[in-house]
Amino acid sequence: MIENSPYRYALLRPFSNHMVWHINDLCNLSCVYCFFPTGVKDPPEVGQLTPAQIKAAFDKTGKKWALFIGGGEPLLYPDFIKLVNTLKINHAIQISTNLFNKNVREFAERVTPENIININASVHILHHSSGSLAKFIQNYHLYMDKGFDITVSYVTYPPLFKRMKEDFAYLKSQGIKTIIPLTFQGFFEGKKYPGSYTSDQVKMILENVHEPLELLITLDRMKFYNRMCRAGSGYFFMDYRGDVWRCATIKESCGNLFNGTFSSRPGPAACPVDQCNDACFGIISQVEEPFPPEVEFGAASEVAETIIEDSHLDGT
Ligand code: SF4
Ligand code: SF4
Repeated sequence: MIENSPYRYALLRPFSNHMVWHINDLCNLSCVYCFFPTGVKDPPEVGQLTPAQIKAAFDKTGKKWALFIGGGEPLLYPDFIKLVNTLKINHAIQISTNLFNKNVREFAERVTPENIININASVHILHHSSGSLAKFIQNYHLYMDKGFDITVSYVTYPPLFKRMKEDFAYLKSQGIKTIIPLTFQGFFEGKKYPGSYTSDQVKMILENVHEPLELLITLDRMKFYNRMCRAGSGYFFMDYRGDVWRCATIKESCGNLFNGTFSSRPGPAACPVDQCNDACFGIISQVEEPFPPEVEFGAASEVAETIIEDSHLDGT
């Protein structure tokens, strides 16, 4: 079991081959800030291969993969428990889930934590009543008790700032050890985020952020043009059809994993775009790691003020 750590990126770095896998679209929730397309039904390509066939496809690449599975809601993928138990024989897995659906408890009962890097449980607070939030918290404790490394994330959607402090305090009072603000990337009321956060909003994120490099996303500094990146050689994005791309930002084909045509670049290459939308994977794929902004974590500090001013996030 990996010890629970607030520094999430540290969990991802030991692996040489990262694959973000958008496994399905189906989700039981419909969050307004959802980053990927979701729906009440999956496309017909989802779930066509057996767990054994999928494992064989990954094994055929000759790589030991760290798979970062998201959707949709992955726990609703057909036979997901068997798929995870089959894949984790040779590969490591992280799952991003809403931890609030019909399969949550069964997964905790039938999957053991070995080779599960982390469960990233998003608390979609706008969907929760006090009763359903209590259920989410119960589920969290079930996974903790089973020995999973589990993190709760909270999307910093602009309308949530007025309640975020209270929500974090409540979740912590209920025994949730690690709650991470997940920077909202998208549009709200015609403004593009994260570039449009006010300085007060950035300060609130700073007060809760656990991973120094995450601030590159919050401060809209995901600009890696011409820097050497492992995307396409050590990091990939795959959709539910098995189509593999250099990264989520650049739609350069690396073949299809399921039909055996997967191929990778021979090594790292210079990033050709101005803006990286790959969040933490864009950061950890850098050959030379970017410097985290120099701020004091755990509290908004004077240095943080300087960074906010430098970034003109205070509107100056
Ligand atoms: S739970 Fe996740 S996948 Fe489902 S709608 Fe919300 S953000 Fe999207
Ligand atoms: S820096 Fe981001 S956009 Fe550029 S190649 Fe790497 S992952 Fe892709």
